[in-house]
Amino acid sequence: MEHFKHPRCKGCVENASSRSEVVNPLCGDNIQLTIKVGEAPKKIQHILFTGAGCSISQASASIMTELCSGLELDKAKELSSTFRAMMQGEISEEQKQKLGDGIALEGVKNFSARIRCALLAWEALDKCVRDMEGTKGL
Ligand code: ZN
Repeated sequence: MEHFKHPRCKGCVENASSRSEVVNPLCGDNIQLTIKVGEAPKKIQHILFTGAGCSISQASASIMTELCSGLELDKAKELSSTFRAMMQGEISEEQKQKLGDGIALEGVKNFSARIRCALLAWEALDKCVRDMEGTKGL
């Protein structure tokens, strides 16, 4: 698990546009996410996470932040629903390509107790996106 041993995008964004914190009490995972978004286009300029927990949750956070870095908010949202769809069933080859390293987590869907671990970081992302959509201009 390369992303667990050497997580990307770890830390806290200064002057974040949005931050969120999610926990998975079932496993004891937690993730804090900070995102800075540009004015226009509404692109994710910086996205960093901190947290602790099992290798699945932390690797998933590392992959998610890497995938979403530089994306427009709408695209990040789309990616999040694609990842969720993968965890709940089958997705197309085209969708798989968009998920990049996220595909490494596909096998987790066979272990229902761990699905939440894999989804946690994406939940944090969704929270931030909703938060930013609810504020002025975004
Ligand atoms: Zn976990």
